[in-house]
Amino acid sequence: MVNSTSVSSISPLMATYSRFPVTLVRGKGSYVWDDQGNKYLDFTAGIATCNLGHVPDVVKEKLEEQLQNLWHCTNLYHIPNQEKLAELLTANSCGDQVFFCNSGAEANEAAIKLARRYANKVKANASSEVVTFQHSFHGRTLATLTATAQEKIQSGFAPLMPGFSYLPFNDFEALDVLKTKKPAAVLLELVQGEGGVIPANQEWVQQLAKVCKENGILLMIDEIQTGMGRTGTLFAYQQYGIEPDVISLAKGLGSGFPIGAIIAKAEAAKGFEPGSHGTTFGGNPLATAAGTATVSHIVESDVLQNVNEMAAYLDKQLESLKNKFSIIKDVRGKGLLKGLVVEINASEIVLKAIANHLLILTAGQNIVRILPPLNITKEEINEFIDKLEKAFQSIEKGV
Ligand SMILES: *Cc1c(COP(=O)(O)O)cnc(C)c1O
Repeated sequence: MVNSTSVSSISPLMATYSRFPVTLVRGKGSYVWDDQGNKYLDFTAGIATCNLGHVPDVVKEKLEEQLQNLWHCTNLYHIPNQEKLAELLTANSCGDQVFFCNSGAEANEAAIKLARRYANKVKANASSEVVTFQHSFHGRTLATLTATAQEKIQSGFAPLMPGFSYLPFNDFEALDVLKTKKPAAVLLELVQGEGGVIPANQEWVQQLAKVCKENGILLMIDEIQTGMGRTGTLFAYQQYGIEPDVISLAKGLGSGFPIGAIIAKAEAAKGFEPGSHGTTFGGNPLATAAGTATVSHIVESDVLQNVNEMAAYLDKQLESLKNKFSIIKDVRGKGLLKGLVVEINASEIVLKAIANHLLILTAGQNIVRILPPLNITKEEINEFIDKLEKAFQSIEKGV
């Protein structure tokens, strides 16, 4: 008997995603397998999350070890893995203290709360406004979608949070606005990921950092997509000659195990005191085991060197692909975060790639986003180019 209260034509899942017609059940390294046994080359890395490939042994071992001992522990007690990971993150960044949470949105939420509380309690009477940039993406909670300056993300969620304003990205005149406005903080990505794989201009970022320093504005960098080695250094800010006050992390931090964090300089970290922020799961023993294994591997192995070598190789291959297909207008990005600007709807290419057993992403209407794992090989890049070329050929032929 069918339960009379169920309506069989309605999915039990809410319609928050329009999914591609693939069901993945297994992954290893740069490959994933679907429920029919088909093998796909994965150049999405779970959207910059499986940076060491799928089910990396170095992380799996540490997770399995931790699974035997303790899964959960409230933050009312000391958690050794959390302390280890915080030490690793501060030793390898300009920051001094870490707060752990479970996702990117939560990390930016923590950054925004820290900025406000720092403005209100440490620098009493200062502005508590947070400035973000057009085409940014900072998450889906109410505060972070308000920080996200994209109409399609905010639409329907009014009233938005007060205390946010937006400036154009890579715009030098915007810096004058900051000088007069003197907000509590600016929050920005150094390569806008979801917004279309748009790298920040080096000189603009340096001037922005200078304006922040001279005007007591916290410089908060959202490294949720660009961090964990994605652009060729552990953090993208390290290529810009700046020192952020706050860095937000998630995606690649746990190799696929959910974890988020903010790293702050000691001065900014004064914004939080015991009781001012908290979380049940944030920094739990399992997540921080995954994080510790991931970060140790990135800083101790030659994976960053591989990112730089493979990024140069991938660039060359993408440029020659661009010369073959007139619908490819531009190749851009940083490290192994690449975008192809195309003249058609990018999801058409994603579908053709799936037919050729290749997984890639979009970033907005007309950008194909390419995010291989950081330990990708030359042979896998060749296979990728071959499959992508076939996808473009079938678009061109209209089949
Ligand atoms: C993915 C992403 C987020 C949101 O992370 P969630 O874990 O999905 O909440 C925020 N900022 C940037 C730059 C991202 O790429």
